[in-house]
Amino acid sequence: MQTQNWLLKQAATQPDRVAVDDGATQLTFAQLRDRVAQLAGQLDQLAPGDKVGLLTTNRLAGYLAALAIICSGRTVVWLNWRLANEELSRQIADSQLHCCLVADELWRPEMGADFIRLQKLAEIAAAPAALVPAFDSDRIASIMYTSGTTGKPKGVLQTFGNHFYSAVSSALNLGLTGQDEWLCVAPIFHISGFSIMMRGLIYGMTVRLVAKFRPAAIEQILAAEPVTIMSVVPFMLKKLVSQRQASGQKYQATFRCMLLGGGTLDRATLAQCQQLGIPVVQCYGMTETCSQVIALRASDALAKIGSVGQPLFTTRMKLAADGEILLKTPALTPGYLNLPAKLPAKMVDGWYRTGDIGHLDKDGYLYVDGRADEMMISGGENIFPQEVEQVYLRYPGIRQLAVVGQPDAEWGEVPVAFVVSDQPLDQAQLVAFGYRHLAHYKVPRRYLRVAKLPTNASGKIQRYLLRKQL
Ligand code: ATP
Ligand code: MG
Repeated sequence: MQTQNWLLKQAATQPDRVAVDDGATQLTFAQLRDRVAQLAGQLDQLAPGDKVGLLTTNRLAGYLAALAIICSGRTVVWLNWRLANEELSRQIADSQLHCCLVADELWRPEMGADFIRLQKLAEIAAAPAALVPAFDSDRIASIMYTSGTTGKPKGVLQTFGNHFYSAVSSALNLGLTGQDEWLCVAPIFHISGFSIMMRGLIYGMTVRLVAKFRPAAIEQILAAEPVTIMSVVPFMLKKLVSQRQASGQKYQATFRCMLLGGGTLDRATLAQCQQLGIPVVQCYGMTETCSQVIALRASDALAKIGSVGQPLFTTRMKLAADGEILLKTPALTPGYLNLPAKLPAKMVDGWYRTGDIGHLDKDGYLYVDGRADEMMISGGENIFPQEVEQVYLRYPGIRQLAVVGQPDAEWGEVPVAFVVSDQPLDQAQLVAFGYRHLAHYKVPRRYLRVAKLPTNASGKIQRYLLRKQL
């Protein structure tokens, strides 16, 4: 299947609608097309190959560069600017890049000649290029590395077809009002952010681009601007809730959806959102499925608190005997970069094994319990770290914790907690607290006080690193 280049289509049908707004600059679809064509002409002068790396924050220059790469028929390889140099070098080598565009604020003199500052790109004398007229469904639009929560990040191939089905399925669930404006502070190098860019082009919708997550500034935007939807990961929502409790400020009445994905959020915070009237819609997805594939309907959000909902229109889901979530979806990646055996190994009878464990309620709504490889088995009983962690987050003074399994001769594994706490830990009291709220086998045997927990760029706890420490 081929569709007309989404940017050209929007520029032709609604040239004057604002396509992107970073708070200082607003570009209509016609202006966006022209800026992208100019950049594509400059990119042609560089002859960077058919894959171009991009290292950028959520700033307009990086946004434009990404579109110039894909609208000139190339593949954008998203690089995470939070990575250490060594990890970055590994991804650049893995994706065999000849050229990597770097946002000015991230560029450093020690970067080699293949790292081109966006400012330098913009100075190249060149005529605007003709953008590719159509997008082929099977063509790789983007390569994006997974978060690396469970190990080394993997490069996921994402086709135009994947992005298209993802965007359309989301719209069939959340609806489109014609006035929608989606706030994008989720990093555009992750699928949570890049999928907003793609929806902007496919829906003809304004993307409100925000470079940095600062709770007070975000609240100000939601209170004053016509944003209707925002994507958040759990840590962002927690910060926004605290901010709102402190300020008492209300969001605009047109704000209709806080789309929450990427990880589990404790019930207490969800309940606070309810009290504050923040319309949270939970969803579930991954880099491999080009963002959400399972989501709540806004109308179910209150009744089904804690659930991630039901499969979107183009996705089918079932649970394996052990509870693993299996998916069939046209948004599924055709494979991992340089790991040809990896995706086939995750397929069973045409179903994609997500590696996540869940359960359904009587109405068929999915609850995500956790990752199969983070699940502990103690004396034959399954323990999910998230369940234990959520209980202990209510314990006075505990700010953060992570529970992992420690090998044990008698039980196979026993849970151990790494705790970030304002106060010294009283082991006996912590155990007694656990016994009041959890089955005994789920209560951590040991509590190790640490200054901080290892997290990836999305704020997810990397429990595998803690397990190594035991
Ligand atoms: P890696 O694959 O490198 O270990 P990752 O799986 O964290 O990293 P992503 O693709 O960014 O990388 O994240 C997808 C994963 O996030 C899902 O497989 C699931 O484990 C988790 N997740 C996503 N949404 C939810 C949710 N609503 N509730 C619980 N977990 C979620
Ligand atoms: Mg994963």
